[in-house]
Amino acid sequence: MNVLSNRAKSLKPSPTLAINAKAKSMQAQGIHVISFGAGEPDFDTPENIKQAAKKAIDEGFTKYTPVGGIDELKDAIIKKFQRDSHLTYKRSEIIVSCGGKHSFYNLAQAIFDQGDEVIIPAPYWVSYPPMVALANASPVIVETTEKNEFKITPEELKKAITPKTKAFILNSPSNPTGSAYSKKELEKIAEVSISKNFFVISDEIYEKIVYDGFEFTSIASLSDEIKKRTIIVHGVAKTYAMTGWRIGYTAGADEIISAMNNIQSQSTSNPTSIAQKASVEALIGSQSEVEKMVSAFGQRRNYIVDRLNKIPEVSCYKPAGAFYVFPNFSSYYGKSFQGKKIENSTHLADFFLDVARVAVVPGVEFGADPFERLSYATSMEDIKEGLNRIEEALNKLG
Ligand SMILES: *Cc1c(COP(=O)(O)O)cnc(C)c1O
Repeated sequence: MNVLSNRAKSLKPSPTLAINAKAKSMQAQGIHVISFGAGEPDFDTPENIKQAAKKAIDEGFTKYTPVGGIDELKDAIIKKFQRDSHLTYKRSEIIVSCGGKHSFYNLAQAIFDQGDEVIIPAPYWVSYPPMVALANASPVIVETTEKNEFKITPEELKKAITPKTKAFILNSPSNPTGSAYSKKELEKIAEVSISKNFFVISDEIYEKIVYDGFEFTSIASLSDEIKKRTIIVHGVAKTYAMTGWRIGYTAGADEIISAMNNIQSQSTSNPTSIAQKASVEALIGSQSEVEKMVSAFGQRRNYIVDRLNKIPEVSCYKPAGAFYVFPNFSSYYGKSFQGKKIENSTHLADFFLDVARVAVVPGVEFGADPFERLSYATSMEDIKEGLNRIEEALNKLG
């Protein structure tokens, strides 16, 4: 008898979480590690949001809620889409899940079947291909280029389309590259989706974390036709420093949302009642803390991009959003340290952790081996020290 299912055996743990675990265990041994591994804001959840949660507890709002979320939160989400993207949704077109990751998971379970192909541009968020595969569909990876700011062109997209194409995954601003599509670029993607008739899954979790006046556009807002084919996956984790609260949401056609509701009703049931109340405050309460956080991220971005581009043979695209940089370190591949050759992004990340005591996530995990991902959701002090250490370590390679 096999103990494990083939499904479980084929799955590896999320590599971003694994790197953080290793860095934390070194920290616990008293080694001072600078971590660029984090996939979450370093700020605390804003006070008004915490107060809303405390109030929910005190008022006894601690029981099951409707599976897909309370109406109050759905209405806040509807308001948010109207306010930020001029998108109009009904309650039946919204479902709240236990984090954006869970939203995507349920969506994949609801719309994908064996034989379906799902186009995913690389570099991609680590969880997309496994979640597509867990729904028995096939990820079709399309490589983008640094030169093109890691954005897929309509021609590249068209080339990947087959009669089996069910959906295209759009993540703008992107984890891991921070690149973001302009309205014009999205119009072209939308045209392809409409003419070839496939869904666009738009992961907009970094919508609010953008720099230098970049104007975020939701692809769903471009026309009624593309709205019908778009499912938006979103959440409060990144914008409001609420990663631990586990609230994500999805907006799309009734039929899809209702299927997701059924899946959720037989698995997790409702997301935490208290976190739902907190999320109402997050979405429609004061947004002033968001501005402060984004402004701090912006200063760090400018610094880290400058420093990285000053390292010989390293190139780093200046991201339009999110809180990651994705520098190209591949000219260091082939060099050695103490007789050990560094041949890829995993070797280099191990070298950085062992020799520089700096944690980064290897690009290969995002489908792009020339790169490493560094999160700048950490203090300016740590960013400076971490980059000093990286520079020093690279000098030891011969
Ligand atoms: C963080 C993240 C999410 C969702 O995170 P949750 O904590 O599950 O809400 C979704 N997509 C991308 C690209 C992310 O980086």
